[in-house]
Amino acid sequence: MLWQLQETEQEIFQKEKQLQNIPSVAAYQEKKSALQELAETLSRKEDQRRSLQKDLSRKEMHLLSLAGSLDESRKKLYSGEVPSVKELESLEKKVQVMQREKQQLEDAVLNLMESQEDLEEELSRRQHRYREEEEEMKRARSRAKEDFEQVQQELQALKTRKQELEESIEEGLLARYREMSRGGRRCISPVKDNFCGICNVSLPSSFRAFLFAPDKHVYCENCGSMLVLMEEDS
Ligand SMILES: [Zn+2]
Repeated sequence: MLWQLQETEQEIFQKEKQLQNIPSVAAYQEKKSALQELAETLSRKEDQRRSLQKDLSRKEMHLLSLAGSLDESRKKLYSGEVPSVKELESLEKKVQVMQREKQQLEDAVLNLMESQEDLEEELSRRQHRYREEEEEMKRARSRAKEDFEQVQQELQALKTRKQELEESIEEGLLARYREMSRGGRRCISPVKDNFCGICNVSLPSSFRAFLFAPDKHVYCENCGSMLVLMEEDS
C-alpha cells in the first residue's frame, strides 16, 4: 500500500503538470489572442472609416457651397450688371480661382470615395475572417474545456485513491514514509529479482528472509529506500 501510495503521488504530480500543459488549452489561448488582435485591427479600420466618412461629408458640403457661390459669381459676371472694367477683371479672376478650387475639391472627393470603397471591401473581408476565426475559437474553447475537465477528473480520482490509501496505512508507517519521501523523491522500492527497484543495486540474499518477516522494515543499504516485496516477486 505504501508503494501504491508513492506511485499514486507520483501520478498526481504528473497529472498536475499535465493539467498546466494541455495542448488544446494552449491552442485555445493562442486562438483567443489572435482573435483579439484581429478585433483590434478591425476596430482601427472602423475608426479609419469613420474619419474618412467625416472628411468626405465635410468636403462634399464645402463643394456644394463653393458650387453655389461659383454659379452666383458667374451669373453676375455675364449679367452685364458690373459696370467697371476693373471690377469685372477682379470678378473674373475670382471665378477662375473658384473654378480651380472646385476642380481640386472634386478630385479630392473622388479620391476619398475610392478609398472609401477600398476600405469597405477590406472591412467586409476582415469582418468575414473575424467571424470565421471566432467560430474556430469557440470550437477550440470547448475542446480545451473538455480536455481540461477530463484531466481534472483523473486528478480527482487519483486524489481520492491517495486519501483511501492514507486512511488504510498505519499512522507510524505513514509518518515514516512522509519523512523519507520529503521533496517528492521515491523511497519505497519494490524488489525485483533481488535488485533494489530504485537504485538497481543487487541485494544480499540475507535480505530476502527479512522481507518475509511481516513487521520488519528493510532498507536498501545503498539508497536507503524501504524495500517491499511485490506479489509477483514474492
Ligand atoms: Zn536501493
